[in-house]
Amino acid sequence: MAVKLYNYLTRKKELFRPLKKGRVGLYACGPTVYNFTHIGNLRAYIFDDVLRRTLEFEGYVVRHVSNLTDVDDKTIRDSKKAGKSLKTFTEFYSQAFFADIKKLDIRPAWKYPRATGHIKEMVSLIRTLLKKRLAYRTADGVYFDISKFRGYGKLSGVKKRQLKAVSADQYEKTEASDFALWKFKKRGEPSWPSPFGRGRPGWHIECSAMSMKYLGTTFDIHAGGVDLLFPHHENEIAQSEGATGKQFVRYFVEGEHLMVEGKKMSKSLGNIYTLKDLEKRGHEPMDFRYFVLGAHYRKPLNFTWKALAAARQGRLGLENSLDRIRRGPSAGRRSGRLKDENEALKVIAACEKQFREAIEDDLNTPQALAILNELLHYANILIERELLTKRTAAIIRAAALEFDRVLGLNLKRHRGLKVPPRVMKLVEKREDLRKAKKWREADRIRNQIRKLGYVVEDTPTGPHLHPTSS
Ligand code: AMP
Ligand code: ZN
Repeated sequence: MAVKLYNYLTRKKELFRPLKKGRVGLYACGPTVYNFTHIGNLRAYIFDDVLRRTLEFEGYVVRHVSNLTDVDDKTIRDSKKAGKSLKTFTEFYSQAFFADIKKLDIRPAWKYPRATGHIKEMVSLIRTLLKKRLAYRTADGVYFDISKFRGYGKLSGVKKRQLKAVSADQYEKTEASDFALWKFKKRGEPSWPSPFGRGRPGWHIECSAMSMKYLGTTFDIHAGGVDLLFPHHENEIAQSEGATGKQFVRYFVEGEHLMVEGKKMSKSLGNIYTLKDLEKRGHEPMDFRYFVLGAHYRKPLNFTWKALAAARQGRLGLENSLDRIRRGPSAGRRSGRLKDENEALKVIAACEKQFREAIEDDLNTPQALAILNELLHYANILIERELLTKRTAAIIRAAALEFDRVLGLNLKRHRGLKVPPRVMKLVEKREDLRKAKKWREADRIRNQIRKLGYVVEDTPTGPHLHPTSS
């Protein structure tokens, strides 16, 4: 167990040491459920998932908590616009979120606490802050007084300045100011009773209250996107440490953003894509996961359709290779000599070691993916040289599936298609024609194959077949 993580608290890569041996408390900021999650959000959730899978791969038992923000300015505004109750409106988008992450094989968190289900905990935290004079009341709410909290800015490095209090959750990014813990009731807005007056919570308080409720006053890892470093995570530290007097979180890890065609996603540019948009263009959700894994989580990533198509090719190539490995040794080929098998075992062991080193090094998924590809490439070479024995094939397959416990590409699910011999013959014929550069005839055969219910896609490891309906 030697995972290194880049900790934003120290701005260094550090060896991860849990508070309790063998256990990890992990809190990841989840969605504000007022719309469908976009592919930028999904990059963040894939990052959380890889972090969790890596810790589990290393043998830790992970308590993963992720919140659903189901009351804030945006959910209230848009539920009103839709003429729906806040609950009905946010529940719809919560379910859409769950459906999306399932498609990406993101392991479900241990708990998904909703803000509206934790008002009591938030009120209690605010009461403590008021008692400790770290918070004050104004005409429109209760605010956190950042001048009273010594450690303010320790995560993001922002300088505190005594600016006037702001009542919205919108901040200037360079300067810190007091922020709302509780907003007093406005007409037509949902509200809850509290000792300091009816109202609703500010955004930041929910993550302090819910993370500490489920993971304790000090816990191991807090994850989110870099945009949350300030003010959200900074404010969470102030609220939590202000109230408890203890360290809130030991490691803050933050994922970089996803851009689309070099630009920030925005409504006005019309470049906010959802998983459905990708599926409409013939992609499978796993193509996107493969694409995301191809970049380190602390590097900005640029989404383009071309890059997604390349990711698809890479992913289908992996599936092809696994199919070939399954078929290879049983195709009546001569089994390899023992000498070759020993060499193969050495190569596999080296790949396993390198894979572990890659993911332990601050979740280096591009490197881990490259090692998986290398291993399967090696298997393909053995097949071509008719040296792949059944035993080696089984070990390579097992290693690949073991790697996939971290990558989460669901390679296990792919068991290969039972393609009728007639179709297989056509595929082979088409390959011969392609090799002879007879493109037109090859295309004609592709159409014939399509009529028989299969789509052929060419990948670096050969043609990949799937039924027309999938
Ligand atoms: P929100 O629903 O806006 O609260 O965001 C949910 C999560 O998605 C947070 O962890 C954000 O940091 C993350 N996020 C938002 N936009 C992007 C983006 N373009 N790329 C990566 N992560 C993002
Ligand atoms: Zn949060």
